[in-house]
Amino acid sequence: MLKIALSKGRIFKETLPLLKQAGIEPLDDPETSRKLILDTNRDDVKLVIIRASDVPTYVEYGAADMGVAGKDVLMEYGGQELYELVDLKIACCKLMVAGPVDMPELSRRLRVASKYARVAKQYYASLGQQVEVIKLYGSMELAPLVGLADVIVDVVDTGNTLRANGLEPKEKIADISSRLVVNKASMKMKHQVVKPLLDQIAKAVG
Ligand code: AMP
Repeated sequence: MLKIALSKGRIFKETLPLLKQAGIEPLDDPETSRKLILDTNRDDVKLVIIRASDVPTYVEYGAADMGVAGKDVLMEYGGQELYELVDLKIACCKLMVAGPVDMPELSRRLRVASKYARVAKQYYASLGQQVEVIKLYGSMELAPLVGLADVIVDVVDTGNTLRANGLEPKEKIADISSRLVVNKASMKMKHQVVKPLLDQIAKAVG
């Protein structure tokens, strides 16, 4: 049995055509089904539907053999126990520092709000800049508007969400796309099933 961890929404929608080309099709639609484990047309393959930020955890612990996770999620997770094998070139965006269009000069440390607290700390450490990082779980754009933070670190696609809130991108931290990650033990123990699937998905990406 091979379990593939996916999150609902953009990643699921954009991974589906790649899985289809690899001969795997779910029998249920996760947007309408409440099932968390979806059967597929292959008896030996199931899809596990979980939160995007939980995908690396499930794969690292072997609860899923492989999964699809954004590079942003993988950077924040920071685990070493999974292989990042294929850049699926889907759900592309940029991880950026963003802030108000008119930023005042600060006489104190910069306050940075983000759900990517670890990435934000690493980024400013790499610049040698001492900052205060505030961990948030959502709606980061709000933080500079109400004085919680000076800037945010968030993923930006069109930039519309930033603009709608009077913010603009300031610095790019990384280009982001979704990656196929594989549990290290599964890679060894289930090589005969995993390897052809990896090859087919990589071919589907082109
Ligand atoms: P935007 O198109 O810049 O207005 O993006 C809107 C929001 O969608 C951002 O604040 C992100 O939280 C989210 N978002 C955009 N692209 C992605 C992506 N590839 N992966 C995850 N979240 C995304």
